[in-house]
Amino acid sequence: MIGLISGTKSGGGACERLASAWPTRTRVYEGPVREAFERAFRECEQVVCFLATGAVVRLAAPLLAGKAVDPGVVCVDEGGRFAVALLGGHAGGANALARQVGEVLGAEPVITTATDAASLPGLDMLGFPVEGDVAGVTRAMLDGEPVALEAELAWPLPALPSNVSAPSDWAVPTLPQALGSARAGDAPLALRDDCPQQGAAEQPTVRVSDRTLEPALREVVLRPPSLVVGVGASKGAPVDEVLGLVRETLREAGLSALCVRELVTVDAKRDEAGIVEAAARLGVPLVTYTADELAGVDVPNPSGAPLAAVGTPSVAEAAALRGGGELLVPKRKSERADGRPAMATCAVVRRPARGRLAVVGLGPGARDLLTPRARDELRRAAVLVGLDQYVDQVRDLLRPGTRVIESGLGAEEERARTAVAEAREGRAVALIGSGDAGVYAMASPALAEAGDDIDVVGVPGVTAALAAGALLGAPLGHDHVSISLSDLHTPWEVIERRVRAAAESDLVVTFYNPRSRGRDWQLPKSLALLAEHRAPTTPVGVVRNASRPDESVRLTTLAALDPDSVDMMTVVTVGNTATRAIAGRMVTPRGYRWQGV
Ligand code: SAH
Repeated sequence: MIGLISGTKSGGGACERLASAWPTRTRVYEGPVREAFERAFRECEQVVCFLATGAVVRLAAPLLAGKAVDPGVVCVDEGGRFAVALLGGHAGGANALARQVGEVLGAEPVITTATDAASLPGLDMLGFPVEGDVAGVTRAMLDGEPVALEAELAWPLPALPSNVSAPSDWAVPTLPQALGSARAGDAPLALRDDCPQQGAAEQPTVRVSDRTLEPALREVVLRPPSLVVGVGASKGAPVDEVLGLVRETLREAGLSALCVRELVTVDAKRDEAGIVEAAARLGVPLVTYTADELAGVDVPNPSGAPLAAVGTPSVAEAAALRGGGELLVPKRKSERADGRPAMATCAVVRRPARGRLAVVGLGPGARDLLTPRARDELRRAAVLVGLDQYVDQVRDLLRPGTRVIESGLGAEEERARTAVAEAREGRAVALIGSGDAGVYAMASPALAEAGDDIDVVGVPGVTAALAAGALLGAPLGHDHVSISLSDLHTPWEVIERRVRAAAESDLVVTFYNPRSRGRDWQLPKSLALLAEHRAPTTPVGVVRNASRPDESVRLTTLAALDPDSVDMMTVVTVGNTATRAIAGRMVTPRGYRWQGV
């Protein structure tokens, strides 16, 4: 919840605007400003004050308890010109909030946190829970001091500056070591002794680990979501018994609860209150599998009881192992003080680190048609793969240290293979394409190559047909189709069959790749096919370089279109029999009421 506090009338206006823009996220605190602020500070995760920064500094000072617990505070000046991230830039989310508030109010976000200002990743902004000396290690990173990256798990991280690197003589602890010492209850110490880097404790260190350990001086521990806990419970098992077992098991194994990504169980236990509540209290999702799915998983400790009760010889182990990984803790049962039979079981699996491939559409060209999500994904990547001209389009957005693999036109397959291979190495990779990366672009060759050993996320982009449509008017108001006239990957007979079908079914058609130097007869031929079913006066929109500096937009007709005016930077949108030119705009009605008018 975001608390809103305003001191003055004009501030009130901006306050109301924000409240009505975010009705479910905000609560307006009325009354005397000091009391309102104190209540909001206590009750909300974030606070936006329409007050002078000085006033807010005085109000907040006596309430400050620490970076990890204080809400993020943003101040907006009376004129609504600036949104200042005053307090809790990272941990409190004030930097992000200042940007969002800026967008709603048309105010300039003011962000002073060092890492954001220098566009370096704050160590608490990498998308993982973090423990340890965040400020100290971030400072060292910014100052260019050598920072050791101790990746016990090869989790995909965003690009880090070049002074953060893995010491070559660092040996990743093996599983038996980790478990053996964990059982002895002294995992951190035992492992530290094995690790020469740790001895030189003064070196600032970023560690990626799921083991419980007290971060050393000048050390930060990133907690990736590597652990899955399988749970079973008999009917009515109390939440304390389930949660107690999970917590105790993790503790004894020397594993951090911050790394648990999900609780898993069998479908039949989806509504078992003790399990549902345990997941909620751990703050992780509960994932379930059918008994059949679990029965097919090979486990070390099958038993008759769950087979009789829910139809699979193992619940906890099978559910945990179902998504793959290493069984760190085999099935254990809860212990009850009253000596009655245990009602809960659990098992812990470490999922293998998986590389991450983001397939990102950059939109047609203009920076403000690049989605915020695409921007985030670019900043999340350690490796960027793309066509050189598209890389140039976004180079300024990349984090320092991002490795760029660019290639020229025509190397699609190779680009796709490279991107997937990089992700398979466990890296965070962004594969970029113009418009939407799934439309006549990189997503399909990449996903044809990718196995289920990497995570893939797609970020949609504004494809050329939509960018052109918006410039032309409303040509896509009814059913429409895109057809690429490139016969590089598709025989002409297939393309022609599709054009004929579109002609017969009266679809609005957008031609991509309409014409190149060596390929000039396909467009006139296609237009002629459409003309067999549409009037010569049918509106046709020709848009070249939509949203780029030399953009051009022309509205013409099937009969008047000059194919020479079309090239590979162009899309051509042909209306259906109901499409009209109205006030210089191309409009396809939603229904067919206008037909014949
Ligand atoms: N993935 C891209 C399409 C790639 S195919 C997208 O979703 O937009 C390449 C063709 O797209 C070009 O030949 C041209 O027909 C069209 N195109 C891409 N960007 C364009 C733009 N900004 N203006 C007009 N046409 C564009």
